[in-house]
Amino acid sequence: RDSKVFQNLLENHSFINYKENIDFVNIVRERLGRPLTYAEKILYGHLDDPHGQEIERGISYLKLRPDRVACQDATAQMAILQFMSAGLPEVARPVTVHCDHLIQAQVGGEKDLKRAIDINKEVYDFLSTATAKYNMGFWKPGSGIIHQIVLENYAFPGALIIGTDSHTPNAGGLGQLAIGVGGADAVDVMSNLAWELKAPKIMGVKLTGRMNGWTSPKDIILKLAGITTVKGGTGKIVEYFGEGIDTFSATGMGTICNMGAEIGATTSVFPYNQSMVDYLDATGRGKIAEFAKLYQKDLLSADEGAEYDEVIEIDLNTLEPYVNGPFTPDLATPISKLKDVAVENNWPLEVKVGLIGSCTNSSYEDMSRAASVVKDAATHGLKSKSIFTVTPGSEQIRATIARDGQLETFTEFGGTVLANACGPCIGQWDRQDIKKGDKNTIVSSFNRNFTARNDGNPDTHSFVASPEITTAFAIAGDLRFNPLTDSLKDKNGNEFKLKPPTGVGLPVKGYDPGENTYQAPPADRSSVTVQVSPESDRLQLLKPFKAWDGKDALDMPILIKSLGKTTTDHISMAGPWLKYRGHLQNISNNYMIGAINAENKKANCVKHHYTGEYDGVPNTAAKYRDEGIKWVVIGGENFGEGSSREHAALEPRYLGGFAIITKSFARIHETNLKKQGLLPLNFAEPAAYDRINPDDTIDILGLTTLAPGKNLTMRVHPKDGAAWDTPLSHTFNAEQIEWFKAGSALNKLANAKKG
Ligand code: SF4
Repeated sequence: RDSKVFQNLLENHSFINYKENIDFVNIVRERLGRPLTYAEKILYGHLDDPHGQEIERGISYLKLRPDRVACQDATAQMAILQFMSAGLPEVARPVTVHCDHLIQAQVGGEKDLKRAIDINKEVYDFLSTATAKYNMGFWKPGSGIIHQIVLENYAFPGALIIGTDSHTPNAGGLGQLAIGVGGADAVDVMSNLAWELKAPKIMGVKLTGRMNGWTSPKDIILKLAGITTVKGGTGKIVEYFGEGIDTFSATGMGTICNMGAEIGATTSVFPYNQSMVDYLDATGRGKIAEFAKLYQKDLLSADEGAEYDEVIEIDLNTLEPYVNGPFTPDLATPISKLKDVAVENNWPLEVKVGLIGSCTNSSYEDMSRAASVVKDAATHGLKSKSIFTVTPGSEQIRATIARDGQLETFTEFGGTVLANACGPCIGQWDRQDIKKGDKNTIVSSFNRNFTARNDGNPDTHSFVASPEITTAFAIAGDLRFNPLTDSLKDKNGNEFKLKPPTGVGLPVKGYDPGENTYQAPPADRSSVTVQVSPESDRLQLLKPFKAWDGKDALDMPILIKSLGKTTTDHISMAGPWLKYRGHLQNISNNYMIGAINAENKKANCVKHHYTGEYDGVPNTAAKYRDEGIKWVVIGGENFGEGSSREHAALEPRYLGGFAIITKSFARIHETNLKKQGLLPLNFAEPAAYDRINPDDTIDILGLTTLAPGKNLTMRVHPKDGAAWDTPLSHTFNAEQIEWFKAGSALNKLANAKKG
């Protein structure tokens, strides 16, 4: 039990640390005096301080030490640029970077990949050299989708991993707590800072019975989404239990955990079981499976009597296939009702495109079951009526289904095999069969179906279902088709019913790894130069921000007093700006362009305090900065809600902002601002917000004695009239105050390193 086992087959510097995990769990169990759920065991087994950590589910903030970090190519850029600016020689924990999001689906796998490598060359060159320099693993374009690669190579039971992508929870299928985060959190872990997470509540989902026929694991989460809605999992971990969990594959569990993101859950997890043993064995990790077995009872399952904050029960015996959508993944309709519901709602009935695969549903089992449906149709002389696409989740899956014939089955059916990448799932789809504005229906085995997500067309009605149901729709070409009850006509006009899908969970001949698409960091990293062209408009090296000058800040203009809701989308818009995620100067041109100016009720139109000229928010901010003038933003309630996007905090700092003063903050944004050396402050008397005029200037007094829990004073200088004071509260702790003084959390870290 005390032997050393590597976390994976690709790295020889990271061991599984069950011994420490279990010691920590025992400390916490004794302190709390109650049995623990499995998710709690993983969390508490990774605490920074198991003795001193306050633990109350839904209340406390846990400081954690995750085992590893996974980043996808779009979010990795700024995370790595920030990490580099700390001047550390290598990452503190194992990190991998995956090239999957930037590959557009146009004509098919190989050609699309070549084009993407060309278009994104500078990003890939940067990621490949930066990962080599700082000791990270790099998965090249074509390797597959981050979550599939993590499942195949890195996930193991009892581990805690963070990933800069919302579907990171996919790895819960191998009994791991895998949590999607923003780049700033990834930088913390890369730099050896403890990572903070609000102690989640635990939602128990009890599975009983066994699925049969057309029902698949996807239907469990589709049904659950219908019960909880897209917000039902917020602040919670979903932990599955009950005898039903032992009746399906680990990759099926991965699908369920993946889509836990659609109910807003922090993550989802299954306890260690035989299906995970089988999957670990099949992916060459039998040693890990054996090692985990030794800890199965004490560490890798819930304690007897563990209590959940709520429990939902699903009976697999009676579960039918679900089709969720359009426009939201929680609009769940069982297949038996779909015909009526579709007609009632006037949804377009012709299924234009069926898309299978993606990180959610591209296991060997998924592909085999979908292929069995296709084969059955083929024996009756039928091909796909709809356009049909197949997105393998990884090169290993692609190579294995190419070897075993499923790929050929799909292409003979009329399917197009796309690159091993996100493609249409994230809108990287050059769709040609309809025009923008055409009302139409598509069905996919993906996870998200928000308006315009797949093809940029707000009139596309996108539904999510299992791969086998998606395939059945592609054969029938009609949303009213229920393969469980309805017949089709064969090539001679005779009626027949499709047979329920069949397919093994794991390839009998083992997995074929396919092309080697992994780049390990070199042994000698000293000669590697990180490639960033100074002319690039997509990438820019970061310079450390200046330290605080040690003085109170006086007479600062208000850049904008924003009215109403100010989300991270208002602060740093997505869409076309995503391209500049690695270029702080360029992306800063979107700062607050979505926020409404209280003075004139307009977006992106503010007055320069000294010249009186109206201009865009980023331009005005940059002018102040270039004139050496600090500025503040005034905001309302829950400022910065939405995503964990760190750009929303980097941009105001880059543009010379000093303080963001609001009625309240969304917590992640508030922490992100602190990390970048800004002052997020709150009106201790919220009525002060209304008294402030966008023309006023602001002093912030008391900074030299800034201390946890001690208010600062804001002195407001109206254009006409006497100055007035109002107290400002804050949530800085002692460590965070040091970040402010140093100019940023990373500066603080770099200073500590210099000694
Ligand atoms: Fe995200 Fe879709 Fe890519 Fe999965 S396939 S990582 S859901 S974009």
